[in-house]
Order: sequence, then C-alpha cells, then structure tokens
Amino acid sequence: MLLFCPTCANVLVVEEGPKCYRFSCNTCPYIQNVTRKMTSRKYPRLKEVDDVLGGAAAWENVDSTNEKCPKCEHPRAYFMQIQTRSADEPMTTFYKCCNSECGHRWRD
Ligand SMILES: [Zn+2]
Ligand SMILES: [Zn+2]
Repeated sequence: MLLFCPTCANVLVVEEGPKCYRFSCNTCPYIQNVTRKMTSRKYPRLKEVDDVLGGAAAWENVDSTNEKCPKCEHPRAYFMQIQTRSADEPMTTFYKCCNSECGHRWRD
C-alpha cells in the first residue's frame, strides 16, 4: 500500500504512533493516523477470550500450577493452554486464580 503526502507528494511511511499506526511524511510534518486496524496482531479482548475458553465450565477439571495471582497474590492458579490463532503461532496460556473468592483471570 503506497500513499502519498497530500502536501508535498512524497511517499508516506508507516510508523507506530502512541495510540495506533500512522502514516507520516519524512520531508514535512504531515501525519495521518490509521484508525482501521492494520494487523491482526491485536490480542482478543476478555469477552472474546471467554468465547475461546467456552465460558466458566471450561475451567472445571483443569490443572493448577504455581502461578501467583496478580490480584490477590494467591500462590496457585488453574491454567489452560489454547491455540487462539493459526497453528504457527505459539500457544497462549490462560490462568484463573484458585482462590474462589477472587477468580481473577489473566493470560500470559
Ligand atoms: Zn509531506
Ligand atoms: Zn486471585
């Protein structure tokens, strides 16, 4: 995808801005933010994670490991390894705090 600067007609380059990707011009201060997602690298949000994990029932009968909960500092957490995307990407590990009053979930 080639875009040209509307003010000086040079080729715009893609760079990672503070909030999102943006096109910027090397020869003048022109910058255009890219509001559309450029890549699929973005991680699924928690709602989508829930779908991947099949909801709370998916956490029954899973193994636990020595992983400290970042919320309540409970020393153990249930864990699951899930292939969220294509097979050539590494597995993602999801954790759920073993403290039933906490139940905090996080991912690697
Ligand atoms: Zn320019
Ligand atoms: Zn916890």
